[in-house]
Amino acid sequence: MRKNMSDNQEISQKLLAWYQKHGRELPWRVKGGAHPNPYVILVSEFMLQQTTVKTVIPYFKRFMEKFPTVESLAKASQEEVYAMWQGLGYYTRARSLYATAQIIVNEYGGKFPQSRTEVLKLKGIGEYTVASFLALAYNQPETVIDGNVMRIICRLYHLTDALDDIKETIRKKAEKLTSREHAADYASAIMDLGAMICTPKNPQCLLCPLKDMCQSKDKADLEQIPIRRRLEKKEKQGSVYLIQNSEGEYLLRKRTEPGLLTGLYEFPWKDEGKIWENAEDSGKTVTHIFTHIRLTLHVYKIKSEKPLLPDSFFVSEKELSDYPLSTLMKKVISKA
Ligand code: SF4
Repeated sequence: MRKNMSDNQEISQKLLAWYQKHGRELPWRVKGGAHPNPYVILVSEFMLQQTTVKTVIPYFKRFMEKFPTVESLAKASQEEVYAMWQGLGYYTRARSLYATAQIIVNEYGGKFPQSRTEVLKLKGIGEYTVASFLALAYNQPETVIDGNVMRIICRLYHLTDALDDIKETIRKKAEKLTSREHAADYASAIMDLGAMICTPKNPQCLLCPLKDMCQSKDKADLEQIPIRRRLEKKEKQGSVYLIQNSEGEYLLRKRTEPGLLTGLYEFPWKDEGKIWENAEDSGKTVTHIFTHIRLTLHVYKIKSEKPLLPDSFFVSEKELSDYPLSTLMKKVISKA
């Protein structure tokens, strides 16, 4: 491929033309420019962090019905927000979205900031989300880079070094392709190409608008690109406690320690070792993978009439589903 601006523009234009015809219709999307309502983009971007489009759609619709404006979200209670998030997991996102809504209402009078610096000061917004938000809500020429975009760039230019070593190269190439006039549509277009055509397995090269320019199209290693190094996960062995009273109710606590799971409800647990030495071992274990950790929790049982921890309380098995629980705790329930 010739490396000059016109090639970059050609790629960008082909993508945009393909998107107008084949891009997905999504409840948070308008084609042909920025979305008129930045709140719609904000909510969808938070939901789409770590969750697929297909899963997000029904949650997004319900959430927008319940909280149609940033003001309605800001004045809701945290419990109401969690209730609408239940099932989506990764509650940190719900907490950050809620905090962001409050900042926008209380500090910006309900008007969304439009500068990168200001948006980054909101809660739970990193490099990816700020770029995506500014491109989709304000058509700002921001370059959105996620796994889809990295895969497309690596394949387009047949970059076969380990992904971690070439992130800067990818970023520069991605920036050059970004349309300055049609940033919103371009961001959606490249995401859709990654989700629909240039998929990790079985990419549909024959249908791809970039096939004439792609350097990996006919290469045997196509599906291996991008090249990822395997991360060694640290192993941890911990314990979780199903504490029941004589009525068969379970002891639950609200997690207040700062971190990923703050505000969620849980059975008492510890990520290394035990809390109570003489609890009965159920013989069951639950394994959960965090980014760098493989955690195995041994499930223990205790009979007690009194809550054994401060801020803990008993609930019936039926009522457990009324409380926002982490994915880890849901695994404990289904296993035990
Ligand atoms: S031609 Fe194939 S590998 Fe290349 S960008 Fe398109 S779908 Fe991906």
